[in-house]
Amino acid sequence: MTVNQNGSEKKRKKGNSGRTGKVWLAGAGPGDAELLTVKAAELIERADVIVYDALISAELLSRIPRDTETIYVGKHAGKHPVPQKEINQILVREAEKGKNVLRLKGGDPFVFGRGGEELEMLVQADIPFEVVPGITSSVAVPAYAGIPVTHRDYTSSFHVITGHARKDGKLNIDFASLVRLNGTLVFLMSVSSMEMILKGLLDAGMDPDMPAAVLERGTTAQQRRVTATVRTLKEAADRAEICTPAIILVGKVCALAEELHWAEDRILGGRQFLLTRPRQNLSALAKRLRELGAQVIEMPAIHTEPISPNELLRCALAQFRERDCGKWLVFTSPIGVAVFFDALKEMKADLRNVLGGKGTVRIGAIGSATASVLEAHGLFPDAVPETYSAGELGKELAELSQPGEHVLIARAEKGSEDLIPPLTEAGLTAEDIPLYRTVYEVNPVLKETVTDMLESGEIDAVTFTSASTVRGFVRAMGEMDYSRIRAVCIGEQTARAAAEYGMQTETAAQASMDAMTEKIVELYGNCR
Ligand code: SAH
Repeated sequence: MTVNQNGSEKKRKKGNSGRTGKVWLAGAGPGDAELLTVKAAELIERADVIVYDALISAELLSRIPRDTETIYVGKHAGKHPVPQKEINQILVREAEKGKNVLRLKGGDPFVFGRGGEELEMLVQADIPFEVVPGITSSVAVPAYAGIPVTHRDYTSSFHVITGHARKDGKLNIDFASLVRLNGTLVFLMSVSSMEMILKGLLDAGMDPDMPAAVLERGTTAQQRRVTATVRTLKEAADRAEICTPAIILVGKVCALAEELHWAEDRILGGRQFLLTRPRQNLSALAKRLRELGAQVIEMPAIHTEPISPNELLRCALAQFRERDCGKWLVFTSPIGVAVFFDALKEMKADLRNVLGGKGTVRIGAIGSATASVLEAHGLFPDAVPETYSAGELGKELAELSQPGEHVLIARAEKGSEDLIPPLTEAGLTAEDIPLYRTVYEVNPVLKETVTDMLESGEIDAVTFTSASTVRGFVRAMGEMDYSRIRAVCIGEQTARAAAEYGMQTETAAQASMDAMTEKIVELYGNCR
C-alpha cells in the first residue's frame, strides 16, 4: 500500500470499468523463449494488452493468447521506431482504461531498456506498476557462446557499457578507466561504433592481442560468434557481415569459447522450426524439439469453435442408445474427443447412459493421439488403423463389422469425405455429427514476421500434423511462394495436401510425435 504525506492511501487511477489499471514492466530475456522468467510467462497469459518492441522474437510472439491485444512500438521496416514519449503515453492511456498492461522488453528492462523513464511517467500519472527483471543479453549471450563473463583465473569483474554514440557521433566512454579495470567488457548497441570502440581501447593502452568477440543474435537459432583480438576484431566481423543485434565482448575470457562452446552443438542447435497446430493442442512436439536445442515457433493457424448447444448430437445420442444392433462411436481428432466430453457435461449426459443402451458399443479412433485422449477418459478404442487416414479408418471399421451395424462419427464440420464410402459399401449405416468448426486465422504481426523468416530461409522446416492444418496454414498465410517451404508431415494424406501447394514434403515413418521428432533429427540433426 502506498501511503502519502497525509497518511491516507494514495488514490489509484480507475478506468470506466471502475477497475484499477496496472502496468508490469517486464524483461523478455535475450531471445530463446525458454529464458523467459516464470513470472513474465504468466503475465503473457493474463495481460489485457501487451506493448512490445523489436527485440521480441517470433517464438515469444507466438505465445501470446489469441484474444490479447498487442501494440507494437518497435521499428517497422524502413520506418522510425515509436518515440519514447509516445510509448509512455500509450502505457498511461491503456492503464487508465483499467487494463492490465504488460510492457515487454528485450533482456532486462533496466539494462539500457529505458525502463526507468517509463516508470517515472507512470509515477507522475499515478499508475500502479511492478517491475519483472529479465535475463539480460549482456550475460546470457556470452553464456550461449561458451564465454563465462567472469572466471577466477582471468578476470574478477565485468562491465556493461553502451556503445550507442551521442548525437554528435562521439562516444561517451572513459576508455582509460575501462582499460585500467582489467575486467571483461561487454558493449551493447555497439555494431555501428565498433571501430571507434576498439580504437578507443587501443589508444588507451589495451594489449592489441587481448581476446575479443562479437556475438550476433545470441541464444537464438541464428546465433553467430566471431572471436579475434582487439586489433583484428573489426576486420573479422566485417568479413562475417555481422549485423545488429550483437554485443562486443573484450577480455581474456573470450578465448574460452573455443573450448566451452555448446549451444550450436546440440542435436538441433542452430535449427528453427515452425509448428502449425490447432491452438488447443498440447505441444508435445515443440517440447521435444526444444529439448534437442531447436528454436520453435508455434503458430496456431487454425482454431476450433465448438458447436454449442449441439442439438444434433443430443438427438443422435438418444437414438444411439435405443439402437439394438452393433454400434460404433468414432472419433477422428483429439480435439473432437475433448469437445465431445465437454458437450456431454453441458448436456448433463452421463457416459453410462450414453453408452449403456441396447446393443454393444465399440469405439474407433483415427490414430494414436486420438486414442490416447480417449484412454484418458477411460475409453480404450477397439479400432485404431496403423496408418493415420480417414479412408483407412473407414476400411478398418468395415472389416470389423457385420452389415446393418451403425456408425456414429463425432467430428469436425466438413470432415474428410474418405471415411464414409467404405462404411456404406460394407452395408453399415453412418451418421456424421459435427462437433466443432474450424476457424482459420493468425495474428497479423506474427504472420508478417513469419513470412519474412520463411522467405529468408531462417526457418528450416514447417511441421504439419493433419491435412486441415496444411489448409489452415495456407489460408492464414495467403499469397506466398510455398515451393520454398520444406514440410515435415505426419502421414501421406497430410503430405499430399502440402504437395498440392507446391511444398517440398517429407513424411514421418509413423503417425506419432516420436516419429515426427525422429524424422526431423534425421533431416536436420547435427551428427557429432
Ligand atoms: N535490455 C536489453 C538491452 C537493450 S539494448 C538487455 O538487457 O539485454 C539493445 C542491445 O542489446 C542490442 O543492440 C544488442 O547489443 C544487445 N542484444 C539484445 N539482445 C541480443 C541478442 N540476442 N544477441 C546479441 N545482442 C543482443
